[in-house]
Amino acid sequence: MKKVIPVTSPLLPPLEEFIPYLEEIWQSRFLTNGGAMHQALEQELCDYLGVEHLSLFANGTLALITALQALRISGEVITTPYSFVATSHALNWNGLKPVFVDIDPVTLNLNPRKIEAAITPQTTAIMPVHCYGNPCATREIQRIADTYNLKVIYDAAHAFGVKDGGGGSILRHGDLSILSFHATKVFNTFEGGAIICPDEKTKQRIDHLKNFGFLDEVTVLMPGINGKLNEVSAAFGLLQLKHIDKALAQRRQIDQLYRSLLANVPGIRCLQAGKEGCSNHAYFPVLVEEGFPLGRDGLYHHLRQHDVLVRRYFYPLISDFPMYSSLPSATAETLPVARAVSARILCLPIYPGLSRQEVESIVEVISGAGR
Ligand SMILES: *Cc1c(COP(=O)(O)O)cnc(C)c1O
Repeated sequence: MKKVIPVTSPLLPPLEEFIPYLEEIWQSRFLTNGGAMHQALEQELCDYLGVEHLSLFANGTLALITALQALRISGEVITTPYSFVATSHALNWNGLKPVFVDIDPVTLNLNPRKIEAAITPQTTAIMPVHCYGNPCATREIQRIADTYNLKVIYDAAHAFGVKDGGGGSILRHGDLSILSFHATKVFNTFEGGAIICPDEKTKQRIDHLKNFGFLDEVTVLMPGINGKLNEVSAAFGLLQLKHIDKALAQRRQIDQLYRSLLANVPGIRCLQAGKEGCSNHAYFPVLVEEGFPLGRDGLYHHLRQHDVLVRRYFYPLISDFPMYSSLPSATAETLPVARAVSARILCLPIYPGLSRQEVESIVEVISGAGR
């Protein structure tokens, strides 16, 4: 049987390296509720990412939902239609109204020049996404937020280890940022996530919110949720941190190889490369241009027939799903760039362990389809 190439594959260190962590957990008999592994991972992630405070979660979606609770967001929130559906679902779960604003044609992130026109008296926050790990226009977004007194919550699910223009963590921008540690992400804890926050007081509030609102045995401060990350997942994160730099370097090499091989394929355009050392190469999106004979969907099916499981991230747009499509901001006229990109985007396989030969054969299938 021919080997199937997935679009992504989880970072899985050798199993024998994980056994000692499991032995420690078994001995402690502490499986959850902020045990030793959980505490150690929060500290090591702060050190690795270069952030002050971080609270682990059972997944990224619960982190997003809790982040909105932590800041007491109400009314309308400006966000991007070009993302994974959880971005808007987190608003929905808080009874908030998403207001979709179009994306920038180069970065594919929320277009800061389009935000102000979407602000109403009900607007309380902006929730942008660092799509594919490419940093948003953080300075412009902050300027707007300061002018209109809005909070900024970054869905940074794709942005593990990404740096801003000044070499600091991208996660230090806005009021809060959230990460996802889902198995398909650059860094995973099977399922998991985190909120990055600027101060100890906010972290305490978030820690209470993720543990039912408990302050102590007999005091419940707020209607919290169960968002806690378990000890086995936290331990897996600790092990994975030992392998992450190598994994990121492998991703960088694959990214460079794609770019050099695809440069000669007419009708396939790579997105602008991130600044050297700032990007995490979480995805490898290309735009299938007008001139490519098969079109995007034709190429998608062609690659799948050749056992290359490419994905159309992000198609359909969030604003096209039935629970959002009747919103005033979801109309085609308000989102022309997102719509056009969503019809042309294709994400190619990228993960540590994807070999040079596999990348070469993927590009051969693509150029074969283009002839
Ligand atoms: C993966 C992802 C999420 C959700 O994270 P989970 O850990 O799967 O809940 C949210 N937003 C974006 C942009 C994502 O890619």
